[in-house]
Formats: sequence, structure tokens, C-alpha cells
Amino acid sequence: MADKRDYYEVLGVGKGASDEEIKKAYRQKAKQYHPDLHPDDKAAEAKFKEVNEAYEVLSDKEKRAKYDQFGHAGVDPNFGAGGSPFGGGGFDVDLGDIFGSFFGGGFGGFGGGSRRSDPNAPRRGEDLRTRLTISFEDAAKGCKRKVDVNKIHTCPDCHGSGCASGTSPKKCPDCQGRGYVTVQQRTPFGTIQTQKPCSKCSGAGKIIETPCPKCRGKGRISQKESIEINVPAGIDDRQSFVVYGAGNAGVNGGPQGDLEVIVVVRPHPYFTREGYTLLFDKHINFIQASIGGKLRIPTLDGDVFFDIPAGTQSGTQFSLRGKGIQVVNSKSRGDMVVTVVVDTPKSLSEDQKRKLRDLAPELGLELEDAQGAKKSFFDKFK
Ligand SMILES: [Zn+2]
Ligand SMILES: [Zn+2]
Repeated sequence: MADKRDYYEVLGVGKGASDEEIKKAYRQKAKQYHPDLHPDDKAAEAKFKEVNEAYEVLSDKEKRAKYDQFGHAGVDPNFGAGGSPFGGGGFDVDLGDIFGSFFGGGFGGFGGGSRRSDPNAPRRGEDLRTRLTISFEDAAKGCKRKVDVNKIHTCPDCHGSGCASGTSPKKCPDCQGRGYVTVQQRTPFGTIQTQKPCSKCSGAGKIIETPCPKCRGKGRISQKESIEINVPAGIDDRQSFVVYGAGNAGVNGGPQGDLEVIVVVRPHPYFTREGYTLLFDKHINFIQASIGGKLRIPTLDGDVFFDIPAGTQSGTQFSLRGKGIQVVNSKSRGDMVVTVVVDTPKSLSEDQKRKLRDLAPELGLELEDAQGAKKSFFDKFK
């Protein structure tokens, strides 16, 4: 890890770079090292990976903050308690804490005595969230991915009972298994009876005398799980989807929670999208624009050819029907819009310039220069 380069340096931006600057720098670098342009070039491939990794961290507000504070150690999932950007230090939830907040008022508490929650009732597991970074193409076409999630499972040894094998929980002697105790209080207005959660059993109504060694009596354990998920085709940056039942295990036989997957899409070096429309700038030179011809256009399904007429102007757009992004949960696809950008030659030699200048009268083109201009600009329209 010591030989990892600084992410800002990798993208060639300053520490204070804006999101837009980071995105722009990423696109430039990704274009420079894109594997399509350097087939079988291991060095370029490594650079491309490095650039993607830097972007993944610097484009994410949370990760960038961690990186700024702790460096690579702050964002490396293999380093300490990382893994899930939301999980932080894992999910070793103490059931005592859950019951604590359970009785603390969330369900009306025990004060009134009329509403009593059964601590042994089945409860659904907590929902989890994770973040997944995928390429532009994978987002457009959908993909299968594995995500590692720290989640709470029902303990496999005691199947959730919390008891060591061969033992069973004992009824709590303080509350006789009810989970709450009745307290009488003398006040100037008479005696008031209130019910409080039993402190001996934390409201569970039972006491585990020989806890399961694996889960230390909690019945659930936190464990990393690799979950295979299907990313729906057409999903866009910062959109999310839910994998039902992939969250934490429930308690007392309750159902599992869900897993929300927030998708981060890496920008593509050439393509951008607006909704389901795929956008692409096709650069051509001025000779090609002048004489027209067949252009090779890259699409998500490989190259296609498109005829442009002679005299095509810069900024001309054409649509390729159904070559855009697949609509989420649908079979239809958006269109692809190609914008022709005519590039003007940048560094002509004197000889080349003279040839072009000589060609101008033949094409009926008038060249302007300040000394030769006899009329003002608006005189031409008179
Ligand atoms: Zn156990
Ligand atoms: Zn008790």
C-alpha cells in the first residue's frame, strides 16, 4: 500500500478540486489510458485501473472526506473496519441495546401500561445499504455483481436461541417470564401502578444461563457475506435498487431486512447520457465535413456506419434509433444522438497555409484580414 500514488496526483487535480473538475480530469485520463486504445499494454491497463480507483474515491463525498483525513488507509476496504461505506465498524449490534431503545419510548413505553410490546415477538431484520461502482457500459446493459456486506445472520449453532447446545433458556425469576415488572409508587394523589421492563432479563422474560459460545447468547452474529446481485440494465449514476431479503436476519423468527444498493457509475471516456438517450460527439476534419462520406460510429453494440452529406456543418446532429440506453424494467431502448464536431487543423506549415489560401478563390471563399478589408462588416449587408 506504501507504493500507492496520491489520488489527486493520479487525476492531476489539486486538493480543492470541485466535483466537476474531478469528473473532467477523470474523463481525460480514462480516455488516455483506455484499454481499447492500448490493447495488450499492461502499463496502460495499470494506469487505467489506478485512474478508476482514484475517481471512485474522489467522486464520492464520504470516501473523499475519509481519504483526505486518513489517506489510503481511510478508504481501502482491506484496511481495518472498512468494507461497507455505511457500515463503518460493522454491525455487532447488542441485543440489549435494541431492547433498551425498544422500551425507551419508541413503542409508547411501559408507562401507560396499556400498550405492551412483546419482546419475544418476531421482528424483521434491519435494512442495509451498500454502494456499488460499475462502468458506464455495465450500467447501460445491466450486469451481475458480487457485493460484500457485513450483515447479521441468525447464529448457525443455536439457530437464534442464544443457548449452548443441549440447554434452553430459563424463565426469568424476577418477572416470571413476562418481561416487565409492576412498580407501585405512593404519590400525593394516591398509589400509582406503573410497569417497567424487567432489568434482570432486559425485558426478554427469559435468562440464558449457558450462552451459545459462537454468538455469546445473542442469537445473531455479524458476518461478511458475498451477495450476488443483478444490476438492472439502464440504471443511472446515484440511483438505487433494493434486493429484498438480503438485509439483516430477523429476531425471534422474524423476516430478513432488505439491502439497498446505491449505484455509482463511472463516466465513460466518450459517451454520456441524458436519461436513456446516449450522447456521442463524432469528431471529423474539415475535409471530411466538406466532401461527406461514411462515418464509423461506436455504439454500445459495436460500430455502425452513418452517411453524412457533403457540406455537413459542425454541430449537426443525427439520431440512431434504439441505440441508446435500455429503459429500466422495460424492453425498450432510448436513441443515440450523435453530434458532428468539425475540427479545424491546428498546426499547419507555411506551405500548407499557402496552398489553402491559393485554393480559397477557386472555392469562392473570401479571406478576411484587417489591412485588406475595404468595407466594414455591416457594409456587406447593405
Ligand atoms: Zn448462537
Ligand atoms: Zn425478567
